[in-house]
Amino acid sequence: IVIRKDPKSLSSLYHIMEDKELGRGKFGTVCKCKEKATSRILAAKTINIKRPQDRKEVENEIDVMRHLQHPRLLQLYDAFDDGTNMILITELVAGGELFERVIDDEFILTENVCKIFMRQICEGVEFMHTKSVIHLDMKPENILCVTQSGNRVKLIDFGLARHYDPAVEVKVMFGTPEFVAPEVVNFERITPATDMWSVGVICYILLSGLSPFMGDNDAETLSNVTQAEWDFNDESFDEISADAKDFITKLLIKDPAKRMTAKDCLNHKWLKQAKTVAAAKDSNKALSKVKLKRFVIRRRWQKAVNAILALRRMGASIGVAGK
Ligand code: ATP
Repeated sequence: IVIRKDPKSLSSLYHIMEDKELGRGKFGTVCKCKEKATSRILAAKTINIKRPQDRKEVENEIDVMRHLQHPRLLQLYDAFDDGTNMILITELVAGGELFERVIDDEFILTENVCKIFMRQICEGVEFMHTKSVIHLDMKPENILCVTQSGNRVKLIDFGLARHYDPAVEVKVMFGTPEFVAPEVVNFERITPATDMWSVGVICYILLSGLSPFMGDNDAETLSNVTQAEWDFNDESFDEISADAKDFITKLLIKDPAKRMTAKDCLNHKWLKQAKTVAAAKDSNKALSKVKLKRFVIRRRWQKAVNAILALRRMGASIGVAGK
């Protein structure tokens, strides 16, 4: 996939359905779109380019996605740069965010179902890591369901992802406080293990509805992360198997070198049984979703607040707000 620069090519090949918004992030708006030649429905992420740096970042996202052809990872179809916006055409992942699906009243959440989701997440991460890509933004909002009823998921948003070269020391200063690994907070070297920490946090939340490092504000959350202290004391964990707890325990380790790799996760006894009937039988009790619902509602709010703050900053920079 090459980035097309001819301004007419986008509208001649695709029709972006601006009224069919799928989601909105810090960087872009995602809408449904139709490939004119085939009538295939895809997704278009439009990112407004304000600084040369923005273009570099989207070029990086495209470059990373080019290397990642796998059923558990969002597939890139086409890419455009019209000077003002960069547009990424990707496959449509129609089932919505995993956590939104899981809290639906119709959905029965069991440990076994969590296992099926965690296995797929680890498969996606494992493929990424074998291609020497680190995602660096693993969080529930970036795990989407393929369809409205099935149990397949895909990882999305490679906006912060980067190629990993063990010979080069890379440090980063971004991410979402609740999910970010201690080495990021401490501005130490990042490795594929950085994603595995976040996988551990996601698993902890999926099983209990509790966010293990959440503080009253970002500074407190980050401080909790660097201490890497957490426990299974809450009653939500009473129902959870020892294998699931062992899985989390081997990911939420401060020393990145001691964490399970994605491959280790797939070989861990908890995930290995993901398809066996026996496992389904002994852990089929429905888990309470009360706390998970609270978690999802809080994240929705946070997203809305962040969007308002971003708008304010934008307003301030063009001189219309900020007083
Ligand atoms: P963030 O602020 O999380 O970094 P972003 O600006 O990089 O976001 P994405 O995370 O790629 O943007 O997309 C924003 C939202 O749009 C996602 O959380 C998801 O709900 C939706 N979305 C993105 N890509 C697709 C897709 N291919 N199919 C369906 N929905 C999508």
